[in-house]
Amino acid sequence: MLELDAIDVHYGPVQALFGVSLRVEAGEMVALLGANGAGKTTTLRTISGLLAPARGAVRVDGRDIGGLPPQKVVRLGVAHLPEGRELFPELTVLENLRLGYWSRRKEHAGFRSKLDHVFDLLPRLKERIGQASGTLSGGEQQMLAVARALMISPRLLLVDELSLGLAPIIVGSLFDALAEVNREGTAILLVEQFVHLALQHTSRAYVLGKGEVVIEGASSELLASPELMAAYLGEMEADAPPAPEPAPAKRTAAARKRTRSAPKAKGDRSAAPRSSK
Ligand code: ATP
Repeated sequence: MLELDAIDVHYGPVQALFGVSLRVEAGEMVALLGANGAGKTTTLRTISGLLAPARGAVRVDGRDIGGLPPQKVVRLGVAHLPEGRELFPELTVLENLRLGYWSRRKEHAGFRSKLDHVFDLLPRLKERIGQASGTLSGGEQQMLAVARALMISPRLLLVDELSLGLAPIIVGSLFDALAEVNREGTAILLVEQFVHLALQHTSRAYVLGKGEVVIEGASSELLASPELMAAYLGEMEADAPPAPEPAPAKRTAAARKRTRSAPKAKGDRSAAPRSSK
């Protein structure tokens, strides 16, 4: 349902993405990984219409939406859960959820059932329904951000760093909620700092390096190849599973070019920034 076809994106004179291509099929859950500054957030912001590509196409259901403003992209069923949540702190949980429903506000009858749905998924929010969102814990705020993004019943959900600054138990319940949403049919493109968590929850993954896709492949194959991942993401998590055999995850032309031009000694992090924030 989503296809990026060789997009270039610039911030003024600075080019952040170089010919990035990726796709997410209907109902798929796909990871977008990469070191700090690799271009993950830029990619999500381009899909949701906050940035316009200078070259290439962003297609939803085959239609080029590159340059369409965010409010029109939302109406196509694309919801963006941004890094930093962007809630309205003085507004209550209910009021934030009502704003999440804004693009569907004419469908009055649907609001109540959507509310019930997100409260089923994240019951703690129901207990906080009248509380100002700025007074919620970090985990509850992230739950609210997820719920707000779900209020439009998205067909595609873009998730940027869900786990940032949260305790593992909260991250676990948020990932359970995402997995449930995905089972219900919403496609998800997931940017996530915890590489293993992301790969365990997705079927395919793309790794960005300096604005280019450097690896793409099945998440299970990437999980089984810590060397490959370490080359692009820096230090792997301590519990990385052993790789009995080299995995056949596909290295793109950009990756091969980089390996030839910048060979690294083991432990040299100079060309492989850490993925943790
Ligand atoms: P992180 O994991 O640190 O959030 P990222 O992979 O999401 O990183 P982006 O935030 O997309 O990376 O940044 C990609 C590149 O674009 C970086 O070099 C960054 O410095 C640059 N960049 C991002 N936002 C801006 C901006 N508003 N103006 C200029 N350059 C920017």
